[in-house]
Amino acid sequence: MSAGDDDRPEMSRERARAERRDVDKERGEPLAGARGGRRALRRMGRPLDAWASRPRILVTNDDGIESHGILALKRALDAIGDVVVVAPDSNQSAVGHQKTLSRPLRVRERTLPDGSTGYAVDGSPTDAVSLGLLGFFDEGFDLVASGINYGANLGDDLTYSGTVSAAMEAVINSTPAFAISQEYSEQVDFTLAGIAAAIVARNILEHGLRHGELLNVNVPAVRPEECGGLEVTRLGKRVYQDELIGRVDPRGMPYYWIGGPPPSGIALPGTDFHAIVNRRVSVTPVHLDLTGRRLLRELPSWDWSLDLTAAAEVADREALRPTPVEQERFGEETQLERR
Ligand code: MN
Repeated sequence: MSAGDDDRPEMSRERARAERRDVDKERGEPLAGARGGRRALRRMGRPLDAWASRPRILVTNDDGIESHGILALKRALDAIGDVVVVAPDSNQSAVGHQKTLSRPLRVRERTLPDGSTGYAVDGSPTDAVSLGLLGFFDEGFDLVASGINYGANLGDDLTYSGTVSAAMEAVINSTPAFAISQEYSEQVDFTLAGIAAAIVARNILEHGLRHGELLNVNVPAVRPEECGGLEVTRLGKRVYQDELIGRVDPRGMPYYWIGGPPPSGIALPGTDFHAIVNRRVSVTPVHLDLTGRRLLRELPSWDWSLDLTAAAEVADREALRPTPVEQERFGEETQLERR
């Protein structure tokens, strides 16, 4: 490369790399380019035939334990490891990362259609994963698989998705995970999704994931022979068409329902949405670090000086303090959450 104009993009690339390294250091992550590292996941990947015993796989979902999708996922992974199904006892779609702390959880054994025993939890997908990873079973798990969800989870959907949140809960508990969802269709056939699930599971077990990482998989609603292959993608942009529908109930009281047509999206090449539109299986790497990198660089230049004299001028500071009763109740609730 010649000197002059070419230096500038090169310099800014180097600066960007240095900034990334700094952020990685602060997060206690292995440095970019380094292999393994102290914070690497306990269960690192290795070839399937090198596992001393069959991998243990926890299968969950957000559509509920009776969904055909969860059975399809279990059957796809039976060939790879010892699968245990732990899932909500009812449909928990779009509950996000909800965690139940204010009431006990009940678990019921269920005989699944293939004759195996599953465990139904009266809580969220996150609760199901927590049970499995916090000691409900005698043994832990090497992989958590969530799905196969009825309906795609693309781009901004991840912020609502119970399917993806279950995988996030696994990652928070240092267990590798993936979520798998199938584009909605009237005639549901999970053949392609089952094939994709087995490929993804094998790859994660063989290669391992680092802390904070999961894979979000979406499958087009087509037969295997109509599929255009598998593509590694980034998250795309969803376009929601939500409408607030207001009606009156039989007792004359108004109620509101968020309705409207299903979300669309912007089909930019390289995105998950583009892959699905083009009948390809989409595999998106996701990281739980949601830090806004641009703002992390820019925010220090904003004016953050605290005007402490303004606090002194607040007229009725006593009114802002919790009463002794409120203080006591808050203390009890905090204690309850810690338990
Ligand atoms: Mn769902």
